[in-house]
This record gives sequence, C-alpha cells and structure tokens, in this order.
Amino acid sequence: MSRVLIIGAGGVGRVVTHKCAQVTEVFSEIWLASRTLSKCDQIASEIDSTTIQTAQVDADNVPELVELIKRVEPQLVINVALPYQDLTIMDACLETGVHYLDTANYEPPDEAKFEYKWQWAYQQRFQAAGLTALLGSGFDPGVTNVFIAYALKHHFDRIHQVDILDCNAGDHGYPFATNFNPEINIREVTANGRFYENGQWVETRPMEISRVFDFPQIGPRKMFLLYHEEMESLTKHIPVERMRFWMTFGESYLKHLEVIQNLGLDSIQPIEIQGQQIVPLQFLKALLPDPATLGPRTKGKTNIGCIIKGEMAGQPVSRYIYNVCDHQACYRETRAQGVSYTTGVPAMIGAKMILQGKWRKPGVWNMEQYDPDPFMADLNRYGLPWQDQEFDIDIDTLPVDE
Ligand code: NDP
Repeated sequence: MSRVLIIGAGGVGRVVTHKCAQVTEVFSEIWLASRTLSKCDQIASEIDSTTIQTAQVDADNVPELVELIKRVEPQLVINVALPYQDLTIMDACLETGVHYLDTANYEPPDEAKFEYKWQWAYQQRFQAAGLTALLGSGFDPGVTNVFIAYALKHHFDRIHQVDILDCNAGDHGYPFATNFNPEINIREVTANGRFYENGQWVETRPMEISRVFDFPQIGPRKMFLLYHEEMESLTKHIPVERMRFWMTFGESYLKHLEVIQNLGLDSIQPIEIQGQQIVPLQFLKALLPDPATLGPRTKGKTNIGCIIKGEMAGQPVSRYIYNVCDHQACYRETRAQGVSYTTGVPAMIGAKMILQGKWRKPGVWNMEQYDPDPFMADLNRYGLPWQDQEFDIDIDTLPVDE
C-alpha cells in the first residue's frame, strides 16, 4: 500500500491518474499536482474515487517541490510534467528521500538535445541515498526498451539489428495538431535524423530517409527515419550493430510542418515583440489545439513496435514485437487519446514495479536494465497487449513512397 505523487496534469497525467486509481492494491493514495490546480481538479472529478487529492506546484522551483513532497509524504514521484522539469524534480526527490520516475529525458529549455547525460550524472547521488530513479517509462522510450530487453532474454543470443517503428494512424480532423506537447513534438521531428551503425552515429537530414511499411491492423504508411532518445540508452546497454527509429507522418502534417519551419515558427530562440520576449515555438503552441482536447475527436489506431534481427544457437532469428492501440477505446476508458494512453499506462506500470520492489535498486536506471518479464505481463493486464511473432522483412527493400 503506497502513496504516490503525480506531477503534471496534461494528457499523460490524466491517463496515469486514471490507471493508478484502477490499481488500488498498489496505489492506495494518489496525489495529482500541476502548475494549474483546476486541471488537477478536473481529472480528479472524472474518476470515481475518493483517494485522489490535488495540489498546485511550480515544478521548476525546488523549494516548492520539497515543501509539497514533505506535506504529501509519497513513496514515489511520477513526473509527467515536461522534460524541462526532470532535474528539479529529481533534486527534490533526493532532498526528501523519495523514488523518482519520468517518461522523457531532461531537456534544457534553450537547446533541443535528447540526451541522458544530465540525468545519468545523478547516478551516484541516487545510489548513495538508496533511491531508485526510473527514466523513460512511457512507450518510446519505455515499452520499446522493454520489448528489446524481452527479445534478448527470450529469443536471441545476439541482436544484430533493431528497427523501432512508431505509427500513429489517428485522425483528429484538424489540418494540423500535435498528439502530445507541441514544443517537444516539433523539436523532435525538425531535428536532424540519426541512426546507430557499427559503434557510430550516422546523421541524416530531417525526413531524408523514408519507407512505406504495412503496419498490422492499420495498413501501409510512409515512415521517416528520426533520432529518438531511447536509442542512446539502448545502444549503451545492449550490444547491436545497427539501430534505427522510424515514425509515420501524414501529408497534411508534413505540409504544415514545412510552412512552420519556413516561417521560423519552430524556433526556440526568443524574439522581441513590442518589448516582450516571445519564443516562436511557444507562441505556436498557444495557437494549436491543446493535445488534451484531441481525445474525443481522434479515431483510428496506433501501432508501435520493434523489428529485431539476430541469432540464436547459430541460427538467424527475426522477430516483430508490437502493440496496437485504438484511440476511441483509450478515450472511453480514460478520456484521453491513444498517444497519452500509450505513455501513461507504462508510467503507471513502471511505478508499480518500483513500489512492489520488482524494479527497485539504488541509482538511475533506464528501462532495459531491469527484468522485462513482470513489466511485459502487466502490459497485457493493464491495456497494452502485445504481439510477438516471427517476421522476416528487410525494411531497406521497401518502397520509399506510397
Ligand atoms: P502536456 O503538455 O499535455 O502536459 C504537461 C503538464 O505538465 C501540463 O499539465 C502542465 O501544466 C504541466 N507543467 C508544465 N510545466 C510545469 C511546471 N513548471 N510545474 C508544474 N506543472 C507543469 O504534455 P503530455 O501530457 O502530453 O506529456 C507529458 C510528458 O510525457 C512530457 O514530458 C512528454 O515529453 C512525455 N511523453 C513521453 C512519451 C513517451 O512515449 N515516452 C510520449 C508522449 C509524451 P499546465 O497545464 O498547468 O501548464
């Protein structure tokens, strides 16, 4: 029986809160805190539970966080605010002696890096404090890391190649909207692509490499090679020859993105307008639909998984492990669309792993560093069932265009 403090009342925070409230045998008391108290109260009011308490907090402010954590006395903080708050929340957890979990690596506000170095630097402090910090417990990073660890444990002596495939075939009916925080989303897809090969990172231009892949339960979709943060930890912890990440984008999304870039609206450098400092990307975010409101409008499915090739007992092996999620089913259950759902469910499961002691050891850890089996079992149990099948397709031979 444990008390948990969730920070961040956005799309993912909503799902985490709903899912924790479904597992009362582990999360007996739930607190939800965010910058805007009314968002916490709204989520709490949706859930038929008297165990959710709410609070206001500025998670950029360590003393404020420390005061809240001391008042709530949780065993664990689930950080589903934004990546900018990772370090302040980790600092506050260290100061108060509380375990930590997040779903995205720390980002400095002024430069998009997608690197774990700042958080890995906390390793000794968490070790010395006897506390666990679990990094990246969403879907990607998160479940994809666990899929690969599971494949290595059960199907391979050695993994040669990994392709992580992320398809969101949801249609929200808007010409342009992002499925999660627009700042993070646009920073991610406008950055150069990068993949790992023979111990080196190979850089590509944004959207330079594409293939059309026939996603199970969705159909053919054009996907683009991107850099994605889980590859940094995965290539460090699991020896591979090549690792790539692919994400699908529709025509309308790409058209708008091109215009946004041409206009400089994706910039994170502040400009002065009538004496005020404005960050163009934050201005754009204010104009776009709030991802939290996309839920009721979004129809279709997501399919995220890993194609893994390697060998077992000298024989070649090729597997495809993936999950398919239906946006409308996610909405019916948690009032959030599939991207929030596929992130929030693994955050709840990661928290459950820590609180049950299955994934608890002092230090700062990525998902693939723990035993994948209990986490994989819980994915089936709590709404993200997966398929694990033989699958021998060479992505490089697929067509570039639809
Ligand atoms: P949202 O923008 O919908 O929600 C973020 C929430 O954090 C908002 O409610 C916001 O509060 C709150 N917040 C922001 N700054 C502060 C602050 N200084 N103090 C307190 N609260 C703050 O984002 P999502 O829910 O879509 O995403 C949450 C996290 O999940 C992000 O880090 C994102 O990168 C990550 N993510 C991970 C994925 C994965 O697969 N691993 C996939 C998708 C997302 P307010 O509304 O009051 O401003």
